[in-house]
Amino acid sequence: MNDGNAHERAQRLMDRDRVEGIALEERRWLDAHLAACETCAAWAEAGEAALRMLRSVSVAVPPGLATSATLLVRERGAQLRKQRAQNLALAAACALSWVAGVASAPLVWRLFAWLGSALDLPGMVWQLAFVFWWFVPAAAATLVIIVARTRSRTDLNMSDSDFV
Ligand SMILES: [Zn+2]
Repeated sequence: MNDGNAHERAQRLMDRDRVEGIALEERRWLDAHLAACETCAAWAEAGEAALRMLRSVSVAVPPGLATSATLLVRERGAQLRKQRAQNLALAAACALSWVAGVASAPLVWRLFAWLGSALDLPGMVWQLAFVFWWFVPAAAATLVIIVARTRSRTDLNMSDSDFV
């Protein structure tokens, strides 16, 4: 093996050593070459110095920065989970109000009919009253959901600007 090939091999091994490591045999050969070859030893030292510098730079990044970023991400995750739970609760309340409305509708219809005849009201009036009784809670629940959605979206937008 001529010298040029040996230097090339040494440098290839050094590069590979930093990325994935090298076999024991290769390391032995490399150590022997570095002990004998000033050029490659200098190259190795320069590589190590560069790596040391990179490490010290990455340590120099304020440790609080990473922590606060992690906290922000975690906080936002909790916020999103909370919002999802709130939406779920609202949807459940809405569904419940619909179910309760449907289930009790025949009973209430009869009640309104009885009230209508007892108060001698025109059919139109107590029937409209019934529709309102049935419709208003569901409409109110829907409205609450829409308002809550809009508000939580605004909250998220605000935290977006906090994030930056
Ligand atoms: Zn060499």
